[in-house]
Amino acid sequence: MRKRTALKITGRVQGVGFRPTVYRYAREFGLAGHVFNDPSAVIIEAEGDAETLRLFIDKLECSPPPLARIESITSTDISLENNTGFSILPSASNGSVFLEVPHDLATCANCRRELFDPSDRRFKYPFINCTNCGPRFTIINAVPYDRDRTSMRTFTMCKECQDEYDDPANRRFDAQPNACAVCGPKLSLIDAAGKPISGDPLDKTIELLQSGAIGAIKGLGGYHLACLATTDTAIAALRLRKHRPHKALAIMFASASAAAQEVFLSADELSLLQSPERPVVICKRKADSRLSSQISPDTNDIGVMLPYTPLHLLLLEKLSPLVMTSCNRLDEPLACDEKELQSLLGTIADFALTHNRPIVRRCDDSVVKIAYGKPLFIRRSRGYTPDIIRLPFSGPAVLAVGGQLKNTFCITRPYQAIISQHIGDLDEFTTFTFFKESIRDFCDFFKVAPRIIAHDLHPDYASTRFAQALEADRKIAVQHHHAHIAACMAENQLTKPVIGVALDGTGYGDDGAIWGGEFFVGDLGGFTRAAHFEYFPLPGGDAAIEHPWRSALGYGIAQNIPEVKDLLAALYPQIPLSEIGVVIGMINQKLNSPLTSSAGRLFDVVAALFGLCATATYEGQAAIRLQQIADTACKEAYPFTIKNESNTDIIYFADMVRSILMDLSKGADKSAISARFHNTLTQAIVQECLALRAGQKINSVALSGGVFQNDLLLERTIAELSKADFAVYHHTKVPPNDAGIALGQASMALAQVQNKE
Ligand code: ZN
Ligand code: ZN
Ligand code: FE
Repeated sequence: MRKRTALKITGRVQGVGFRPTVYRYAREFGLAGHVFNDPSAVIIEAEGDAETLRLFIDKLECSPPPLARIESITSTDISLENNTGFSILPSASNGSVFLEVPHDLATCANCRRELFDPSDRRFKYPFINCTNCGPRFTIINAVPYDRDRTSMRTFTMCKECQDEYDDPANRRFDAQPNACAVCGPKLSLIDAAGKPISGDPLDKTIELLQSGAIGAIKGLGGYHLACLATTDTAIAALRLRKHRPHKALAIMFASASAAAQEVFLSADELSLLQSPERPVVICKRKADSRLSSQISPDTNDIGVMLPYTPLHLLLLEKLSPLVMTSCNRLDEPLACDEKELQSLLGTIADFALTHNRPIVRRCDDSVVKIAYGKPLFIRRSRGYTPDIIRLPFSGPAVLAVGGQLKNTFCITRPYQAIISQHIGDLDEFTTFTFFKESIRDFCDFFKVAPRIIAHDLHPDYASTRFAQALEADRKIAVQHHHAHIAACMAENQLTKPVIGVALDGTGYGDDGAIWGGEFFVGDLGGFTRAAHFEYFPLPGGDAAIEHPWRSALGYGIAQNIPEVKDLLAALYPQIPLSEIGVVIGMINQKLNSPLTSSAGRLFDVVAALFGLCATATYEGQAAIRLQQIADTACKEAYPFTIKNESNTDIIYFADMVRSILMDLSKGADKSAISARFHNTLTQAIVQECLALRAGQKINSVALSGGVFQNDLLLERTIAELSKADFAVYHHTKVPPNDAGIALGQASMALAQVQNKE
């Protein structure tokens, strides 16, 4: 029986080669009809034998183009037109565009083959791409996604490229960045003074890098700083110039097999490393690795990635591995155009390998590790932005401005949240400018006009002040750790009440203290603080975050453990005794010594007692060093106490700290002490969750907060909670750190608006 069916397919179906695939399948099955993009979906009308139609739909569902993500397919039978042939019709572009915008994609296998094929017309062309790969988010000015609305608009295709672009059977049909050496972007090489360097830009770059120079190399979302990854001298120079003495640097390898010689790669890590999103994957360095120890002096964790542009492929083929770190000054945004590059040339970079395809949108590399068999995002940016996070509810458009550090912001559409790329630390003026520009960009790009603004409770966050100055129907302040838990709930589609465990650095609490070791009960509509870690003073506030010994001193005095002071004085002879005396005075007189329940600061206390860190040169350094030495085979823990005080459980760790001091004085193995510390936190979480389950009859636990970037703690905590039959939810789509809180703010704002209605 002959039938004609209208199909409507939603999801990530634009810019991923969907229509040509439909076209090919329809021709294969001999169906008549057409396909086109409408503002909200791909629309297909197909006519043929009923059974063939069914096979066609099955095939589309089972083998869509590799990068598509089908959200829904609806089909309606319509009247026959008895025509023949199948065609691709132009897009219907009126109305609001609600399609998903594709993210940037690593060079595909077909393009890579052509790139290295001497008989191919794009042999060694550093901008080769096709319908299945290449830049997207970082070159699109506006949607619908057409070449005219990308930074490729100034490059007019040559006849051969145009023919490919126009042919539905060609794998470059409708590939907006399609280009070749005749008509497309070109490389150029410039020296520290910005003057062109003669010769082949690639060969010359390799020569310069080999001689130990540091180069700025234009990538998809900005410039990288590149240098050899196997020699200490270039890396030492890079660290000096970037004012980044210890924080780990990412490494790019020519291939997965080259990476596997230096780091351990599990099957999960390998597939993440090779995925079209191509994030930086954090892996464990092998003992016999020839990588410079300067790459990550604090830890065996190394950020590894594979080439994701043809330029990377050409470069790494000749010279691998390379350090590939963001090209910026400390805390400033990644350089993404020639003007920003200028001030870095001669000061940070010795030369630049650049090109004339503009970057429309700055986008840093994403950073992911595998924990408990799932991705654990440290940074979610290139390759993932602007992928949509499904929300369990609808509602009006919300803008959530996020936090202060590792900022991202978030906008919502019905059932959808779109989180920005990594913005950074808003303390820095240039980053704050990037933040403001990006919010405007997102609202224009996604055609969202938010009337509800969500922000942190902290009055002094730059994001909060920005939100307060905006015009809106409603502004909703969301407590920092409520937002962390809400983010975990939103990405896990949880709407029922949970026990939320937020272990974090610092966040403003509603009692004026600095929170960060929190247990909540509630749902997206609101949370109650059911328990928290004990308070102790942070002498100097931010100064204590920078100097972990201050936190240790604050803890020792608050808990009346005088040995702490003596131990610190012995461990850090570089700190004058007079300074220690001043800090003790501050604590005793409660001068600029805010109280904190922060789990991150508790890590600082313990790391300081180990002599691991007097001054942190980056956020989380003390905790990273402490985790690094932990003996993962050790399953013991230290004692702790939970006391109920005015209906809130307070978890005290003084017994643990005393035991640690005792073990240290006995000269016990530090790796076992570190492991016991981690295990103690896990036990405290489990015991408190058991108590809350008994009282509240809630069995779901949501884990969030920056401390859960520590995979040892996260994995042990998930395992132990699961053993106690809890349903455990953690982050696998957005980071547990402050890059996740915008999603939480938006979700809580939406829930509150709904509750009011
Ligand atoms: Zn390709
Ligand atoms: Zn061409
Ligand atoms: Fe936080």
